[in-house]
Amino acid sequence: MGLLSEVGELLLPRRCAGCGRENVSLCTACLSLLGGIPRAMEPRYGRMPVVGVSEYGSRLSRMVVSFKDEGRRDVLDPLALALARSITAALELTHHSGGPVRLVPAPSSQRARRRRGGSHIAALARRAAELAPELSLQVLDVLLTRRSRDQVGLGAHAREANVAGSQFLDPSFAAAIASADRSANESRGGIDLLVDDFATTGATLAESARVLASVQIRPTAGAVIGLGRGGTRFVSPFTV
Ligand SMILES: [Zn+2]
Repeated sequence: MGLLSEVGELLLPRRCAGCGRENVSLCTACLSLLGGIPRAMEPRYGRMPVVGVSEYGSRLSRMVVSFKDEGRRDVLDPLALALARSITAALELTHHSGGPVRLVPAPSSQRARRRRGGSHIAALARRAAELAPELSLQVLDVLLTRRSRDQVGLGAHAREANVAGSQFLDPSFAAAIASADRSANESRGGIDLLVDDFATTGATLAESARVLASVQIRPTAGAVIGLGRGGTRFVSPFTV
């Protein structure tokens, strides 16, 4: 084996990020999971429609985990393309007629923010923006979450309250918003979307919407890669 092929072996992922099949980054069966027809659902929590292009499942989950926790940068583009398709469908659903679109990623921990400059959702959203330049997508990575260990030592009631308040705005963003001209912000003519990897009950998205409403940001829809079946009502088919 030559040196180049040995180096190639080291650099190229040897297993499919979805199913583990050898000698491929993402096999066609797993790739096709990302290429479904967009669907919009009304989640159990919140009133915001959520659009996805795939059904949540173990292989899709594996793909995202491999990107998030195992450094599989090779699946960034396929995942970001799927998210971009979902965003496009969400814009169609909301009858968006142009103008800037702000994507608010699901919250990340401050630790992830320090370590990686944001969550994997923010990374996917940024790449989706690069892959769809015609949409004028801007990523507004301002939601933070408390680490789950903050729950340790809390009683049931306090724990419930803590979950309800599990997300908060980046303090520097909250300060900037407070001093900004609110009317200018509201007349910008664009729309805001929440983005995440998956949605099942919609509880995380609903909590994000609640936090953002405190600064007059009201996302019109959610865009995710994978939609779960549980607790959601089918809203709209797409032709795109
Ligand atoms: Zn596969």
